Amino acid sequence: MIHNRCCHLSCPQCEIAGNIVLDSKSTRIEKAFCSNCGYNLPVHEGIPDFASHVPLMDSRLRPIQKLNQSPVFSVCYESAVWRTFLTRLGSGISMKDELERVLSLAGNGNIETVADLACGTGHYARAFSRKYPGALVYGLDISLSMLTRGRNLARRNNLTSILFLRGDIYRLPFEDHSIDRVNCCGALHLFSNVRPIWREISRILRPGGVFTGWTLYLKPGLEERLQRRMMEKGLASFFQPDQLGDDLKQAGLTHFHCERERLWLIFSASKIRTGVL
Ligand SMILES: [Zn+2]
Repeated sequence: MIHNRCCHLSCPQCEIAGNIVLDSKSTRIEKAFCSNCGYNLPVHEGIPDFASHVPLMDSRLRPIQKLNQSPVFSVCYESAVWRTFLTRLGSGISMKDELERVLSLAGNGNIETVADLACGTGHYARAFSRKYPGALVYGLDISLSMLTRGRNLARRNNLTSILFLRGDIYRLPFEDHSIDRVNCCGALHLFSNVRPIWREISRILRPGGVFTGWTLYLKPGLEERLQRRMMEKGLASFFQPDQLGDDLKQAGLTHFHCERERLWLIFSASKIRTGVL
């Protein structure tokens, strides 16, 4: 059902959108190619790869990102021992509350396309698919093991409008102004250079479209010194709400709204409608 509607995808080679053909047997994608330039995209275990310029195991990844590549970790990721525990510890709220806050910030309307960036095993992609039943939801991540796990979980939940694809957050494989909602939860603190990511998100969002996410707070005081040391060592990134709002605005994302729960910043911003700040 999803394969004839992927006109938002751009070819990694000719960079023209609307020509990606996904051939599938039953629900598994067997072949992916660009009908414009003939480029054959690699397909790993039914997942089309729009980021073949990034090795499947990248030595430049941070330790937590390397861990994300592990099949065992991807199975444990949504379990009580990992995300549930960390969410409660870091934010004081439950994963369910966190999810509901983000979905509420995403709002309503006639939503046709959603891109869940750094989607992991698809916790948010599944929730967006349920919230917007008519929408095509793209689940994008760099970790193949997370994506295959996500695809299997979506199937098990009969969510057939989610397309999982391997992609690079710095080179999103979507046409300009083609996506109604972009989400990135629990991953932005893993990237050392986020400004190009804001620009990519702003590029792909439709005017009036909404970007939602949560990331980690740069807490003033003793914690800040420790957090800044972690940033210097490239272990993680942390954000101050005012700075985050300013940076998003620079990229063309306005109406910044941010709610803090302990170390969690849950936020949204909208793509400007007019093309002018
Ligand atoms: Zn092409």
